[in-house]
Amino acid sequence: MTDSSAALGRERAAVADACRRLGAEGLLIGTAGNVSVRAGERVAITATGAVLAELTADQVTVVGLDGKIVAGALQPTSELELHLGVYRRHGTGAVVHTHAPMATALSLVLDELPCIHYQLLALGGTVRVAPYATFGTPELAESVLAALEGRSAALMANHGALTHAPTLDKAVEHALLLEWACGVYQRAAALGPPRVLDEQQQLAVIEAAIARDYGTTHPVPPAQEEER
Ligand SMILES: [Zn+2]
Repeated sequence: MTDSSAALGRERAAVADACRRLGAEGLLIGTAGNVSVRAGERVAITATGAVLAELTADQVTVVGLDGKIVAGALQPTSELELHLGVYRRHGTGAVVHTHAPMATALSLVLDELPCIHYQLLALGGTVRVAPYATFGTPELAESVLAALEGRSAALMANHGALTHAPTLDKAVEHALLLEWACGVYQRAAALGPPRVLDEQQQLAVIEAAIARDYGTTHPVPPAQEEER
């Protein structure tokens, strides 16, 4: 524990910030859920038993990709192996796992969240529901890792949701997007069978998004600005 605690100081603070944001948004409730970010061969991850909506940087533990504790005074989350598995298999930069209410509700009844809105394409389209296994077990990790194939989100049957992304901010955005989509689906399904975007419609969205650089701001060219 030499310079390592200082080295990941920024990442630990960022994980705490992300947890407080997700707590404020109602996605992290009490001590349920866990968040991590990777920096090279190290991972900053929430401690087990910590109240996530009030998390501080010293409640974030630093581990190696082998799971060995490098820095921090608290034991890491019981889903440590799940997070490490996502980094190993899907080569990502950050992982968010929640027991968010809408996502968890859908995980009780669906085998997958169909692509009901084009924004879901940011997560890879249809979101699979990973079959149930006891929390913290290799069986659960395997189930979720398989459901994430080609996706940046999965629902976890009778448990919750997981998202990942190259950056922590993006993984948090994915978690919020997934929860929003689950809420939309629930409301729609109460009225009747929701329509689903077919493959061709999904493909057209991807083409349009690439053509228009969707999701980024675009400055008005100077000439047009003068016309206003
Ligand atoms: Zn959980």
